[in-house]
Amino acid sequence: MLYFHSCPKCTKGTIEYGSDEQGNYIMCLMCGFYKNSAQGITKARKS
Ligand SMILES: [Zn+2]
Repeated sequence: MLYFHSCPKCTKGTIEYGSDEQGNYIMCLMCGFYKNSAQGITKARKS
């Protein structure tokens, strides 16, 4: 899933929202910003 102009770092980048073995993550296709659920993007789902 892609979110345009949603990067918290560069504000103009396209954010890709996906999941891997560690959980969900977001990654900016423009600046390389990366954050996964272990770093706190899904605070509601803390197992
Ligand atoms: Zn960015």
